[in-house]
Amino acid sequence: MSYPADAILVLVDVTPTGDAAPSTAALLGAAAQIGTPVALVAAPAGTAQAAVDAAGSAGAAVVLTADADATALTVPLVDALQAADALVRPDAILVSNSIAGRDAAGRFAARAERALLVDAIGVSRDDEGIVAHHSVYGGAYLTDSAATFGAPVITVRQGAIDARAEAQQAQVEELSVTASGAAAASVGAIEAVEATSSRPDLRGAARVVSGGRGLASKEKFVLVEQLADALGAAVGASRAAVDAGYIPQSHQVGQTGVSVSPQLYIALGISGAIQHRAGMQTAKTIVAINKDGEAPIFDVADFGIVGDLFTVVPQVIEALEARKK
Ligand SMILES: Cc1cc2nc3c(=O)[nH]c(=O)nc-3n(C[C@H](O)[C@H](O)[C@H](O)COP(=O)(O)OP(=O)(O)OC[C@H]3O[C@@H](n4cnc5c(N)ncnc54)[C@H](O)[C@@H]3O)c2cc1C
Repeated sequence: MSYPADAILVLVDVTPTGDAAPSTAALLGAAAQIGTPVALVAAPAGTAQAAVDAAGSAGAAVVLTADADATALTVPLVDALQAADALVRPDAILVSNSIAGRDAAGRFAARAERALLVDAIGVSRDDEGIVAHHSVYGGAYLTDSAATFGAPVITVRQGAIDARAEAQQAQVEELSVTASGAAAASVGAIEAVEATSSRPDLRGAARVVSGGRGLASKEKFVLVEQLADALGAAVGASRAAVDAGYIPQSHQVGQTGVSVSPQLYIALGISGAIQHRAGMQTAKTIVAINKDGEAPIFDVADFGIVGDLFTVVPQVIEALEARKK
């Protein structure tokens, strides 16, 4: 069959349970802005029907399925990308900037000798081809990048893209993949970690409430969690809060932590050091509560409250709870 001349190949991140990762809708939304989305679902045969369906609902015109060995790390995804790329001849390949996505994108770009444009917060098309947009140096600059030849491989920051594509009756096709036999680490076992919280994951969350050193103790950090729960938000933290033992490192937002791009980011008792801003500056709406009116966090905040967070936050929670009644 022939594929659309403006095809954009999207590698869907498939979870070990065969679902499409939450990044899928934004990847396909971005692809639809610059061409016709063709999704690639690479997973052991017959295990990822949910991901195939999700790709269609999220706007893929065509879904290619590839039987990928789950016991080998990354190489089966790269082999599938290579086969899909040769078949579809897309104008760009979009991959989530997740850990697995970054790995696959890097290896594929090296193998196919393509430009790798990383951590894009947007994509567009001009007369010469596909352009990726980035927020760099801690959000201080917006830059564009494009490839001088070949379809670029673009990793897309989770949560950065609002565009969504219309659901499609996707045409599903089995992709034939020749295993490259390239060296791959093997996966010994996959163990599901019991979710200890019903809060959303920090990466990709639509709302994030983060706390800093201003929370003063692990016991008082609970206030951050209470506001997060009132908003259905994920919990983040500054490095100072992590170093002080208020919360585990996996919650750290910033240069040496997680980068987030939520619709709403609330910073409580966080000064707004450049290393923290690097991980949250692309949030759509930033709210800061800090008792120091000169704190740099207010430079990037859309809304700021200068006040003691222990006075302000309980009132915010009360107001939110009152609205729910
Ligand atoms: C290489 C490197 C990498 C780094 N990576 C990261 C990173 O990934 N993420 C990160 O966050 N940091 C990172 N840092 C650390 C960063 O430079 C800052 O030290 C850190 O972000 C400060 O955290 P904070 O804002 O919580 O603390 P502080 O800077 O101490 O700020 C605390 C704030 O709380 C306010 N406050 C205090 N009490 C109250 C109250 N009762 N009510 C309201 N406000 C109150 C204060 O006014 C102050 O503004 C990195 C640093 C380096 C050198």
